Amino acid sequence: ATGGSNRIAIIGSGYGGAVAARKLAQAGKQVDLIEMGTDWEKMSPIKGRIFTTMTSPSARSMWFKTRTDMPFSYLGGMDLVNRRIDRGAGALDIEYFANMKVYVGRGIGGGSLVNGGMAVTPRRSFFEKVLPQVDAEEMYNVYFPRANSGLRVNDPAMDVVMNSPWYQFARVSADQAKRAGIGHVMVPNVYDFDYMRKEVYGQVPRSALDKQVIFGNDYGKNSLPKTILKEALATGRVNVIPMTEVRSIERAPEGAFRLQTKTIDFNGNLIENRTREYDRVVLAAGSIGTTRLLLSAQGEGTINGLPDAIGRGWGPNGNTMLARRLRTRSGWRQSTIPVMGLSNWDDSTDSVFAEIAPFPAGIDLRTGVYLALTNNPHTGTFTWNRGSQKMFLDWGPSHAEPSVRAAQKFFDRINRANPGTGYRSDLFEKHKTFSDYFTYHPLGGAVLGEATDLQGEVKGVPGLFVMDGSLIPAKIGVNPFVTITALAERNMDRLVDAQRF
Ligand code: FAD
Repeated sequence: ATGGSNRIAIIGSGYGGAVAARKLAQAGKQVDLIEMGTDWEKMSPIKGRIFTTMTSPSARSMWFKTRTDMPFSYLGGMDLVNRRIDRGAGALDIEYFANMKVYVGRGIGGGSLVNGGMAVTPRRSFFEKVLPQVDAEEMYNVYFPRANSGLRVNDPAMDVVMNSPWYQFARVSADQAKRAGIGHVMVPNVYDFDYMRKEVYGQVPRSALDKQVIFGNDYGKNSLPKTILKEALATGRVNVIPMTEVRSIERAPEGAFRLQTKTIDFNGNLIENRTREYDRVVLAAGSIGTTRLLLSAQGEGTINGLPDAIGRGWGPNGNTMLARRLRTRSGWRQSTIPVMGLSNWDDSTDSVFAEIAPFPAGIDLRTGVYLALTNNPHTGTFTWNRGSQKMFLDWGPSHAEPSVRAAQKFFDRINRANPGTGYRSDLFEKHKTFSDYFTYHPLGGAVLGEATDLQGEVKGVPGLFVMDGSLIPAKIGVNPFVTITALAERNMDRLVDAQRF
């Protein structure tokens, strides 16, 4: 047992970091919440907006890039979608590996700033297969309900979905699936659908209906700064340290953790490099960020005793994206918030849960876009390279192949039932029909029960904790943030009860 005077740092302010901050602060602890990205709540609006739309990007859109890099970059095989932008600490970043681009959010709120808000509780049977080390009964009775209410998950407004022009794209795809005997499901979201209804009628400023999503969202979406982080900050015990990246972690001889941090301004100018000392450190930098900090500490020998399991069990949640020619109008107006999914999930490797995604280009492309989540048996492994000081990922097209195969089998059925429709291969890099080189859903790298104990404390390194998507091995069958939140709630309850802080 430990006393109450520990210095505690949380690295990263996404779902895992928000839950950890709220739990510790409500338990009376003082915490530093260190986040490399911008504190968007403190930014001043430009023309009434903090964030940009997808079609008018700026330095606020992406993390230090001179050109946007969107998942669908191509039209007719040409790079027409991306735009030149100024460099700045924008909201959307990409972590590049040899055969995999991982999209991540940057700023106070992490991925909640840029994601589609789809808030899906996994099928219990699949959760039990992926995380057999966790008591599913307790998760489904206590922690999933708590995560859903804390994140303010609500169901799509059927009047808006069934009637408004902004969801024609979803209705057309659902109809075409129906012809193949595939039903659709409604997908819950953290976007406030009452607000969206007012957007439809022009009663409030538009956000989902005005091409805002992956570069941030000004209205309607209940991202973490409006929910769990807000509650954490209301305690007065959370010291937010934005624009500050943790570059390395070292265990000092007397047991404390030394963090090397680098603070910059929005334009990337160095403000300070600094060493900070803590007795307890919660890693919540996301699957990539947390795995990198742990692997570099292992590779550079700054923390002894880190387990071999660090870097293992990674996956892109079986993500593969595709687009179809619909042969019918999909609508030039499209809400950015997906509301329907096509599902044939039976936990086999043929399983597909495909979200009907928007493509808000401002013109009618007669195109259906889908994010298919699949049950891919492969996992990737990260390794640390001392020479380049970089992390490598052994993921390639052969790892992604089962995802592509399952998605193709599923969508071939829909194409066959709708004569004249077919795949579009002119939207992705290399004219691929199924994307196998990017993901929105990185999972794993510090798996629960393998790299950590059963509540997230790193094996062999007492006082160091993992609390984010890295705990989940490779996939979860649905969009992951509800599971990440619920698992963090569970782990933090157990750790605080056991007085690990
Ligand atoms: P994150 O939310 O990634 O938070 C990690 C934070 O740590 C970030 O703010 C990062 O800047 C910070 N950080 C990283 N390294 C450091 C460091 N060294 N020092 C300081 N700070 C650091 N999921 C869904 O469930 N539904 C969706 O609809 C959905 N849509 C998505 C759409 C997009 C475009 C993207 C990118 C993701 C989407 N996701 C969606 C995925 C979801 O956002 C992530 O699964 C989730 O955010 C992961 O939570 P986390 O707590 O693991 O880490």
